[in-house]
Amino acid sequence: MRLRPLLRLVAVALLAWSLTASAAAPPRLVVVIVADQFRADYLTTFASHWRAGVQTLLRDGANFRRAQYPYAYTDTCAGHSTIATGTLPRTHGMIADSWWDHETNLLVDCTDDEAASIISYGSPLVVAAPVAGRGATPAGGRGAAPVGGAGNSPRNLLAQTLADELRQQRPGGRVVTLSLKERAAINLAGHSGDAVMWFDEAAGTFATSSAFASAPVPEVTQFIDASPYVKDVGFVWTLRDPSTTYRNRDAGVGERPSNPWSGLFPHNLEGATAAQYANLWRRTPAADVYLARMATALIDAYRLGQAENKTDFLGISFSTLDYVGHQFGPDSREVEDIAAHLDDVLGSLIAHLDDKVGRAKYVLAFTADHGVAPVPSPAKGFGSLTLDDVRERIEETLRNRYGPPDKDAHVARIYYPNVYLSPAIRQRLAADPLTVRAVQDAVTSLPGVARLLYTPELSDRSRDPLVRAAALGRAATRSGAFLIVQKRNWVLGPRGTADATTHGSPYDYDQHVPLILLGGGIRRGTYDAAAAPTDIAPTLAALAGVTLAKVEGRVLQEALLPDSQTTRR
Ligand SMILES: [Zn+2]
Repeated sequence: MRLRPLLRLVAVALLAWSLTASAAAPPRLVVVIVADQFRADYLTTFASHWRAGVQTLLRDGANFRRAQYPYAYTDTCAGHSTIATGTLPRTHGMIADSWWDHETNLLVDCTDDEAASIISYGSPLVVAAPVAGRGATPAGGRGAAPVGGAGNSPRNLLAQTLADELRQQRPGGRVVTLSLKERAAINLAGHSGDAVMWFDEAAGTFATSSAFASAPVPEVTQFIDASPYVKDVGFVWTLRDPSTTYRNRDAGVGERPSNPWSGLFPHNLEGATAAQYANLWRRTPAADVYLARMATALIDAYRLGQAENKTDFLGISFSTLDYVGHQFGPDSREVEDIAAHLDDVLGSLIAHLDDKVGRAKYVLAFTADHGVAPVPSPAKGFGSLTLDDVRERIEETLRNRYGPPDKDAHVARIYYPNVYLSPAIRQRLAADPLTVRAVQDAVTSLPGVARLLYTPELSDRSRDPLVRAAALGRAATRSGAFLIVQKRNWVLGPRGTADATTHGSPYDYDQHVPLILLGGGIRRGTYDAAAAPTDIAPTLAALAGVTLAKVEGRVLQEALLPDSQTTRR
């Protein structure tokens, strides 16, 4: 038989393949840790504080020093969705924390879903004071405009996450995600999960959604009942390290702490009114510690990573740095100290994983959803610009050219960086390039505005890097007709914002984030090749032996040990 030698060859090849494949078993646990607003340069500028988790990551991990988001609008919902799916906002659709829905004429949050309801852990313990916008969301708070949504779900996420694919391709594994923010926990998990938890600011309790569970998850209830976060009521936020080790000064210019805090350490929870407590608690290291303790409890309750032949997924997004960063800015002692405390939090988490799972049997990725801009400094020529000024300038230009609107306004809504127009005006502009230019000229003459991009003209193949970046972050049905791009170091926000600074720009301080891999199959080292958070999901998927349907990142092959490299593509 002529086929015989060929068959033998195939058999030998298959045997060789199965041997190498078994040499690198898939991880039993995939861990994704996001530190919200952790800018890449913090790894070096705050180096005097690393002696726990961050030190382990830098010493034993694969550190991609040039990791950067390639798209223009860098915020929480877009960042977490990108990390979780390995795709860009143009594909996963989560272009921003909120966008204007042209059909319902409502501003929707990215996880809003009127068909879903909130499942709360316990009755509200304290009621948070109403905050302008949502306090710590990027510029462009909700204001008085109508808002949609009752509950939250992954409905608006248009791509499958790594956790989704793990559940489908390697059934039996658990999916657990935790954050103070619903848009972080939900998007890290994707379309299902065993425990998908966040802190419901309005109710002052932890919560999940009917999209994930029909009743409170017993494992979570057990933890929350035993250690409610109100136990931190006497907490005093003091410096983790001797004050001489801090590079940032206390009480810096432009800080905007929450009432009743001042810019000076210590910051107390003691004495906070019931209405202030939840708002202040999430701005202290106690909140990160609490989240990590919840994660540890769930690792134990579900025995994550402790069974053979399945791969669990644990996603944790630490939000405190973002809440503090918005109020105090990246050059504050508060931000430096939250990062220092986070080092301890990561250290205890990694120690627990090493103990319960074993370093070789889990793989962990550490990254951030975005960075942050410095606090505006008029003395240096970096100011802040209100979105209302931009909206008024556009409205005025359109009225000059087209007359007053039939009803309401030509500008339907502005939510940084998107400018939404009435349907009639959108149609007219499509055939009127001169008016498009007139609007662009009017807005770019405002101080602090670099560009006003007309989105129908965006192309991901443009030779203009800014146009390309904007195209990668755009979804036609969710983005506005125009995108505002501020000048470097300028901050855009609503009039009377409660924040000192924000993020969202296409500049390095917002796009450049840590990307460190640790654990089984990972080759430690420092890597200077181009990388992006879109690479995280495909790389972890390759290690776990699952395929992602749509991917816009690459497998970070150079950081994989040979066994993992040759068998997992
Ligand atoms: Zn933020």
